[in-house]
Amino acid sequence: MLSCRHMIGQLLNRQYQRHASSITAKILEHRYVELTQTDGLQLKYPSIWLRDNCQCPECFHGATRARQSYWERSPLDAEANRVNYDEKRQQLVVNWQDDHNSVYDLEWLKQRDFSVEARQRYLDEVYKPPAQLWSKSQFGDVTREFAYKDVIEKDAVLGAWLEALAVQGFALLRGAPDDVQVARHLAERIGYIKLTTYGDVFEVKSKPNAGNYAYLMKPLPMHTDMPYYEYKAGINILHTLVQSDSPGGANTMTDGFFVADKLRREHPEYYELLSSVPVNWFDIGHDGDAGKPFHNLWRAPVICLDVDGQFARINHNTMKRDSRFTVPLDKVGAWYEAYDKFLQLVYDEAVQFKTRQGDVFVFNNLRMLHGRTAYEDSPKNQRHLVGAYVDWDIIYSKLRTLKFPNPKD
Ligand SMILES: [Zn+2]
Repeated sequence: MLSCRHMIGQLLNRQYQRHASSITAKILEHRYVELTQTDGLQLKYPSIWLRDNCQCPECFHGATRARQSYWERSPLDAEANRVNYDEKRQQLVVNWQDDHNSVYDLEWLKQRDFSVEARQRYLDEVYKPPAQLWSKSQFGDVTREFAYKDVIEKDAVLGAWLEALAVQGFALLRGAPDDVQVARHLAERIGYIKLTTYGDVFEVKSKPNAGNYAYLMKPLPMHTDMPYYEYKAGINILHTLVQSDSPGGANTMTDGFFVADKLRREHPEYYELLSSVPVNWFDIGHDGDAGKPFHNLWRAPVICLDVDGQFARINHNTMKRDSRFTVPLDKVGAWYEAYDKFLQLVYDEAVQFKTRQGDVFVFNNLRMLHGRTAYEDSPKNQRHLVGAYVDWDIIYSKLRTLKFPNPKD
């Protein structure tokens, strides 16, 4: 299989090297270095950035990919004296005013092109695959299924599964063995299981004296897990060991990013409130009779964005929303109005399906609102799920190592 890096390389080569025309380098406004090819290629780099990223052994420690220059002050006064493009070696050579010399491979420079297209390509291909938002009616089109055995045994299938979790936000694995270790094996196949106040692997079944609402047979309303954590669980791996024979016990799910986007388009004033007013999320109790006590608190809006303005996280859990609402008095009524509209959209867009024994339902807990319909256990048929969490840092890292097994730089 061709790696993405290889394909990007080919794309770049087609774009930049259609003709083996010569490249000239020049200094612009004392602040930029520009490479121009006769067929129109233009690459422009700030001098300060070039000097900061000098690749010589004095400035850069190749074995650890670590910059070892400018530890105390940045290279503010860097100015190029002379620049030259070495056609034979395909390298830009810069002689600086303090007589330091730097050499950059053309390929290395192209991968760090500052153009809008190149930056976006890097974010989409290497940083995070863009999310595909979906409505209730698109559920069938976005559902991805994989054989449990293939995910465990084949790296290409593992990669496709993780890509589906990043893009569509959920996936179903079929044919898992009747083994309480399945959720743990999947978490460890990705990397590391996440430890929370509910332990590492957790069991979802109706329990007497339940410490958590999920451990009751009542319907479980739409929610995300652990909004009360700053480092909220990234994905939820839910293995169905025993499914309820009763008509209930079905999964419900809504794409929270789709709902947030719909709210932004159709009710911008509500969107503004839900993405700015902080809510107190809490979890106080202990896990089981002998479990350690916990007192979790995290303050964040329902809709959270990342530095690029993309949806990063949805917080919603009616059961875990604190009655302490530490916002100014006049914000409260308006916030409830916005929240009511959000919930209406969440339920309007909810899909319903019922997993079978041997299914593993895995979803992005930062994005997917999920719940369960009510069910009836009988002495012979007790619904039993085993779950585990993994953080997105671990998942993205695994995905990148699968896509780019031998990164040169
Ligand atoms: Zn250097």
